[in-house]
Amino acid sequence: FLAGKTAVVTGSTSGIGLAIARKLAEDGANVVLNGFGKPEDIEKERGGIESEFGVKAVHSPADLTKPDEVEAMVKLAADSFGSVDVLVNNAGVQFVSPIEEFPREKWDLIIALNLTAAFLAMKAAIPHMKAAGWGRIISTASAHSLTASPFKSAYVAAKHGIAGLTKTAALELATDKITVNCISPGYVWTPLVEAQIPDTMKARGLTREQVIDDVLLAAQPTKQFVTVEQVGALASFLCTDAAANITGANISMDGGWTAE
Ligand code: NAD
Repeated sequence: FLAGKTAVVTGSTSGIGLAIARKLAEDGANVVLNGFGKPEDIEKERGGIESEFGVKAVHSPADLTKPDEVEAMVKLAADSFGSVDVLVNNAGVQFVSPIEEFPREKWDLIIALNLTAAFLAMKAAIPHMKAAGWGRIISTASAHSLTASPFKSAYVAAKHGIAGLTKTAALELATDKITVNCISPGYVWTPLVEAQIPDTMKARGLTREQVIDDVLLAAQPTKQFVTVEQVGALASFLCTDAAANITGANISMDGGWTAE
């Protein structure tokens, strides 16, 4: 159902973004991958998407903390495929530290990537969607867009910001056949989660197993990590006609975490 359409998925060289990009390609979209990584790994994923799903895929190396590179990524989509129909704001990083010790540069980085880049990408993509008379904007927020955890000040602030930006954009675009939603996963097993285990061990004085069982899965009543494929399937559903009246929503996929 996305044949002939173009999907830009930020932070799609890894984890959730890669799974969303693969699912939208399976649905027929040409995709713009974005994110960092070894050139040979990125090329393998890009080529794999083309051969597996019979669509076109290009990679934008844009560093989304740099506003002109966000614009360049959206321009690459339009220049390569003639439209920008689906925008998935997914790139994000985490940093774990008490506020008193939280480095200012880390705060700036997280706000720039996890929040401002989504605003700038919307700003660049919306004119293309309006021109086509259809669009889907989806952001990967987080359970941390609805609730907080200690030591994640910048991340929680940025994700609450994404939830607010989503609502605002949805209202602005409500009559343009462009829906704007965010998906709020709980803990998904990806490199991002794995990478924060050492810092959480340090910040809380816990072992690796304690962090997994008592901190990560403690929050999730199902006691299971969300999978990247489950997030991809929800993003795909939001692109269907059945989802045309879902807009401004923040959809939780968190094993019951924020129900508590
Ligand atoms: P990940 O580390 O696997 O992937 C992050 C992606 O962002 C990678 O492709 C990376 O190259 C890219 N990236 C990093 N810095 C970038 C920059 N400056 N410019 C462009 N791209 C950049 O992480 P993930 O777990 O898949 O997380 C993806 C999104 O999901 C993030 O926004 C994260 O906050 C959110 N999220 C993750 C979880 C989880 O448990 N993993 C839960 C809730 C929300």
